[in-house]
This record gives sequence, structure tokens and C-alpha cells, in this order.
Amino acid sequence: MEIRYQSTRDLNAKKVTASQAILQGLSPDGGLYVPTEIPAIKTPLTELAKLSYQELAFKILKPYLPDFSDQELQTCLTAAYGSNFDTSTIAPLTEHANAFYLELFHGPTIAFKDLALQLLPHLMTVAARKNKLKAEIVILTATSGDTGKAAMEGFADVPQTKIIVFYPKDGVSPIQEKQMLTQKGQNTSVFGIAGNFDQAQTNVKNIFNDQEFKDYLAQHNYRFSSANSINIGRLLPQIVYYFYAYGQLLNAGKITAGQAINFSVPTGNFGDILAGYYAKKMGLPIKKLICASNKNHVLTDFFNSGTYDKQRPFYVTSSPSMDILVSSNLERLLYYLSDRNPQTTRSLMEQLQHTGNYQISAAMKTKLTDFAAGFADENQTAAEIKRVFAVDGTTLDPHTAVASYVAQEWLHDTPTVIIATASPYKFPQAVWSALTTIPLADGQQALAELQKLIKLPYPPAIKQLLTATVKDRQSIAPTKMKSAIVDVLFDH
Ligand SMILES: *Cc1c(COP(=O)(O)O)cnc(C)c1O
Repeated sequence: MEIRYQSTRDLNAKKVTASQAILQGLSPDGGLYVPTEIPAIKTPLTELAKLSYQELAFKILKPYLPDFSDQELQTCLTAAYGSNFDTSTIAPLTEHANAFYLELFHGPTIAFKDLALQLLPHLMTVAARKNKLKAEIVILTATSGDTGKAAMEGFADVPQTKIIVFYPKDGVSPIQEKQMLTQKGQNTSVFGIAGNFDQAQTNVKNIFNDQEFKDYLAQHNYRFSSANSINIGRLLPQIVYYFYAYGQLLNAGKITAGQAINFSVPTGNFGDILAGYYAKKMGLPIKKLICASNKNHVLTDFFNSGTYDKQRPFYVTSSPSMDILVSSNLERLLYYLSDRNPQTTRSLMEQLQHTGNYQISAAMKTKLTDFAAGFADENQTAAEIKRVFAVDGTTLDPHTAVASYVAQEWLHDTPTVIIATASPYKFPQAVWSALTTIPLADGQQALAELQKLIKLPYPPAIKQLLTATVKDRQSIAPTKMKSAIVDVLFDH
């Protein structure tokens, strides 16, 4: 049976094709699309280890995308993973201080979001053609800092698309903001909102579910889709690099085929680590998926207690892409924990919306053994950056440092791969202040000073940023997101 997609909340389990799920982003009932089945990988791990990133991506993704022809998928992959990355290996694995780091920051926006967002626009263009879609696709994106830039970079000047990004105006790093405000492309727009990521994400979801507004846009030949990890087309490409990391460990003789390893994943919206869960279900030998959180440790508490409670203070931290209290992709995990029960999933999500918390059943809780969880506060994150730098001069960004800190407890008896999600140059001020006590202004000055200290060459993305023209910052109230969309689309 070919794989199709159904919503985590749909009691009738209505099925759509992969290309339809990718075009829609969110299911009309507010749920998230999941595949009807998670395909087992049949090729031996030792064979997979011999493949290039693009070849491996083809093997992993093909069963999930049965309505894409081999040729179509291959063309998408070649376009997505090429000279837009600063290394031909795409996702190199390095070893420092007794742990392995999977470097996912070699793409055009120097954060791991590129691994999915360089591919998604190509998948979406093919999906539009396949479904004879005439409307222009409007990608609405809430971002905690990295998705917005990576999505704009991926969709810039892609025919038949427009992309509108909302970010918390005081919740991203100056480099992240500058990256967004220097974005090229006639079809890209970006707004800072006076609120946090959760407000941006909730409003985007509400706009997706606003039928009247959608009908109005449809009359004008527009339809919405999403580049957030609620879109299954964002999630699937992330499965690939878990297999790729494993292959690199095999090739380096660090493990034997079949040996189980851990992954420590710096987590916000639960997209990255959920892709690891899919990899495990497909047959990759993973012992623990370690969910690493920052001071906003709603997920650590959930894994330890079985209760999810978003009613708590929200902190702006040095790892802003993880400053999230409502982790969207956890909904997909709940669906699996409940043995794919849309009723249970729906009722938990409704409780979260109405009361701000929910508790999973004892039966569901026993299925959490695939995961471990921990967090690093701001001091622990800074100390981890300093510790690893002292070992061999490697500089971690604050997100990676969170995962590296949390991993320490787990790496003694099991090889552990820490997912390195961003370049330190994306967060120069935070990295600088972890390494020295000398005060430093943020922004361009911080970049130059940091480079003198860590002696890592600037990636191409930073070189471009230094000379790019910066657009005016547009900032709006969270309640004005809908009118901002109307302004962009109708050019009043
Ligand atoms: C988005 C992001 C994360 C969190 O990933 P999720 O899929 O949202 O859990 C971690 N680190 C960086 C640098 C990110 O951009």
C-alpha cells in the first residue's frame, strides 16, 4: 500500500496524497498530517553509509512521496543540496571532547532549518503542478528566528509563491534580524511583532483556520500554506540526516553496523527530534533521543511528569530558536503514543487550548522510553560553550551548547551524536560573553571581535551580510497580522 497522509485529529481518517498534504500545510481540522505508515528501511545500514547525501535523501524520502516520480524527486534533491551549501558533504560529522557533532549549519542561512527549507519550495512547486493548482501559494511563517530567514531564502523568487514572515521583534538575535531584513526576493515580506513566538504561531494557525478569510483570498486566487514544521514536507527531509550521521560513524569505524547510538537534539517546536523518532521507527538503531531544552523547559517537565503545562513564565534566552512554550510537533508524538488515536489527540490539544495544560495517560507515558530529557539554564549553556572551547578550540552556538550540556550524562556508555543546529556567528554576543568577561556591543562589532577570538573563518552567509542593504524594520501588534497580510497581498 502506498503511503498517504491523514490528520492527527480526524476521526474519519480522510486521506490525502503527499503532494496535497505538502500544499495544504495544516489539515483543515487544525490537526497535523501524518503518514498512514512509517516505512521500514530495507537497505542495509552499511550500504546506506556509502551513499552521498543526495542519494541517501532519495532512498529515505521516496517511500513517503509516492506521487512524486523518481525523476521529479531527484531533480528537487539536486537543486536543494548543491553549491548553496558551503561543503559538498552537506552535513559533516566532527568529534570534539568525547562526543560527535553533526554540523547542520553549512547551508545559506547557517542554521539547520536549511536542510529542510532548501528542499521544501522545490517539493511544493512540483506538488502545485501535479495538482494543477492555479492559485498563488502564500507561505505564512511564524519564526523564533531561524525558520523565517531559511524559509525566505528557500522561497525567494520561486514562481507562484509569496512568503510572509512574522518574528517576535524583541526575541531574536541582532544577526538573525539583520539576516531577515536583508532578504532578497520580490515575493518576500517580513514583520516584527510586539509579542513572543507562541503568539505569532497561534495567530498564524488561527489565520489558517479562518474559513471566511481563506474564501476571500481564494476569490483573489490566493491560498495559504506553511513552511513551519507543522508542514510534513518540512519534517520528512529532516529524517535523512539521522541516517547520514549513522553512516558517517560507521565509515569512520566508530561503531559497528546495528550498534545503537544516542542523539541529543536542541529542541523548540519538536520538529527536529520528531524526525529522529521517525528515523528510529524506520529502523535506525537509536537508543535514546535526548530532548534538550533551555530555561523554557516545558518539554523536560513533560517527559519527566507526563503533564504538559504551558502556563509558566516565558524567558527570552541566548538560544532564542528554542524559546517556545507550545511545541507544535508534540501533537504528532501524542498521536503515536495513543496508538494513533485521533480522538485522544484532539481532546488533549483541546485541553491545552482551554486550560493551558494536559496530562497523558499512564499507558501513553510508558511509551516515552524512546526519549530522555534535560535542560540547561543560561549559566550552564555559557559554561558549556566555554568548556568545549577550552578542550580543542571548537566554538558551539548556544543552541548546540544546550544539547551538548544535556548529552554529558548520556555519552559514557553509548556513542552520542549532538545535533549542532547553528553557526556560532549567528549569536556572536552570546558566544562572546560565554568565553570572556570583556563587555562588547552586539551586532557587527561583536562578529569581528568574536572572529579574532575563535579564529573560525566567516561562512559565506556572514560575508554577504556584512555588505547587504538592510530594509526598514516593520513592526506591528500581534492582533494586526491579518491586516498585514491583506496589505502585502493587495498592495494598499
Ligand atoms: C529551530 C531551531 C531549533 C529547534 O528545532 P525544533 O525543530 O523547533 O525543535 C534549535 N536550534 C536552532 C538553531 C534552531 O534554529
